[in-house]
Amino acid sequence: MRKPHQAIVVGAGVAGLAAAIRLAAKGCNVRLFEAAAEPGGKLREHRENGYRFDLGPSLFTWPQLIQELDAFARVHRPEASLPEPFTYETLDRSTHYFWEDGKSLVAWSDRKAFVESATKAFGANASKLEAHIAHSGRSFEATRKIFLEQSLHEWRGAGKSAWRAVLPFVHKLPWLGTLHRWNNRHLKEPHLVQLFDRYATYNGSDPHRAPAMLHVIPHLEHGMGTHFPHGGMHGITKHLVALAESLGVEINCNAPVQRIVHKEGKVTGIVLEKNSAELILADIVVSNSDVQPTYRKLLPDLPAPEKILKQERSTSGVIFYWGIKGEHANLHLHNILFSKNYRKEFEDISKTDVPGEDPTVYINISSKVQPSDAPNGCENWFVMVNVGANPARVEALVPEIRRHVLSKIKRTLGKDIEPLIDSEFTLTPQGLQDRTSSWRGALYGASSNNMLAAFLRHRNRSTQLKGMYFCGGSVHPGGGIPLCLLSARIATELIDSYS
Ligand SMILES: Cc1cc2nc3c(=O)[nH]c(=O)nc-3n(C[C@H](O)[C@H](O)[C@H](O)COP(=O)(O)OP(=O)(O)OC[C@H]3O[C@@H](n4cnc5c(N)ncnc54)[C@H](O)[C@@H]3O)c2cc1C
Repeated sequence: MRKPHQAIVVGAGVAGLAAAIRLAAKGCNVRLFEAAAEPGGKLREHRENGYRFDLGPSLFTWPQLIQELDAFARVHRPEASLPEPFTYETLDRSTHYFWEDGKSLVAWSDRKAFVESATKAFGANASKLEAHIAHSGRSFEATRKIFLEQSLHEWRGAGKSAWRAVLPFVHKLPWLGTLHRWNNRHLKEPHLVQLFDRYATYNGSDPHRAPAMLHVIPHLEHGMGTHFPHGGMHGITKHLVALAESLGVEINCNAPVQRIVHKEGKVTGIVLEKNSAELILADIVVSNSDVQPTYRKLLPDLPAPEKILKQERSTSGVIFYWGIKGEHANLHLHNILFSKNYRKEFEDISKTDVPGEDPTVYINISSKVQPSDAPNGCENWFVMVNVGANPARVEALVPEIRRHVLSKIKRTLGKDIEPLIDSEFTLTPQGLQDRTSSWRGALYGASSNNMLAAFLRHRNRSTQLKGMYFCGGSVHPGGGIPLCLLSARIATELIDSYS
């Protein structure tokens, strides 16, 4: 029998935890080193004044990818004492949308109900809207195996079944043009175009520059549904940590990795910042750190893939975590207050890094689904606007952004919420970078503001160093919880093939 791998995972983000789980389930000895005081990366929580906030992701789709980890552990380690399987609630709606002209729309999970309310609100053509959503689903199913579930960079293991799925549909896919152009051509009605354009922000991109291929994203909500993990988004981190530990993964927090060490084209281990004299041995290293610091800091002596590292970053965010007095009946878990001119908003972000006087505002209120997240009669508002991934520039503009956000809420919902703010905490691109090592505080690694973006994300296996692998939002297939989980699956399957 082959000797088990000694594997080290750098970073306990959702992808790092998933990679550690998969490797441990397959019998590797896994040690995970996390710079922060606790695991989770962007998927952590903050408690203040009786309020609980999920700090990063709030929209949860494709939960089967977490259940798949439970099943994987169970199949490979039937003898292990594993935690109860991951649980979540499926929601009857995804988002409440609001416009300043007084229009609003509830995006019901039931497609017929959604199409009916959109038809009523905007006089939209029901069959065209129905066909638009159905096409998103068919494209998603045709392309997911190639673009999301396997490496785009390896011949070995490239699935024939993936190509078989896409070939009959290939002529129906929009290979050229932008997402905005695609939505405008098929929907025409401006509110609906804006609603479907916003799916480019799922990976921090601009719908007026991102490829029409991103039209597969609405299927995640309108076809596969939106969900809420029991315990909130942070429940995902807690579950993955419990699963990893039950499989014997050693999780070390407050343990920033200083260097990945290699010799003669092979990784040999890592050294930690707190003890750079001790080499911690490994024959496999999986980096869940952003690919920029992985090369610049952890592997400074290795030639870096400059073209990939120079890709435009995704947007970052300024997030206000407000404890709010009172209950606000027209809002739900996910709420979006759209700007009047989406194109101008993205142009402003691209030129000045901030959205100007009329930002699109996202409000997430988890206490609507999990009342214990706020004191009685209050709500926990996570209020976010998109900004450029430029920490130095944005930091100074936070008070101005706050003013514009409050004014936008007042204009759109008719409420002055400033006097209702009971507790306050803010995260900026700088804060995100400091807490997670995400280069420039980008939420999703590189943006998709480029027709070739999918091919320009870093691969999951190093071709320079045997034993070196990559997972997480800055590498293939990209950012967001589902894709990060897929990156861990792809990376560990490559370990099976190559190491
Ligand atoms: C505000 C916000 C909102 C978001 N909204 C959504 C959403 O609604 N839905 C969604 O699906 N996604 C959303 N995302 C994106 C999602 O959070 C990320 O794509 C995902 O969580 C990234 O996971 P990751 O595995 O890449 O690791 P990260 O979460 O980036 O974690 C990487 C970890 O590695 C550690 N690390 C880095 N370098 C070292 C080192 N040298 N030594 C040791 N440890 C190191 C870091 O400390 C960190 O803990 C959002 C993100 C943010 C910030």
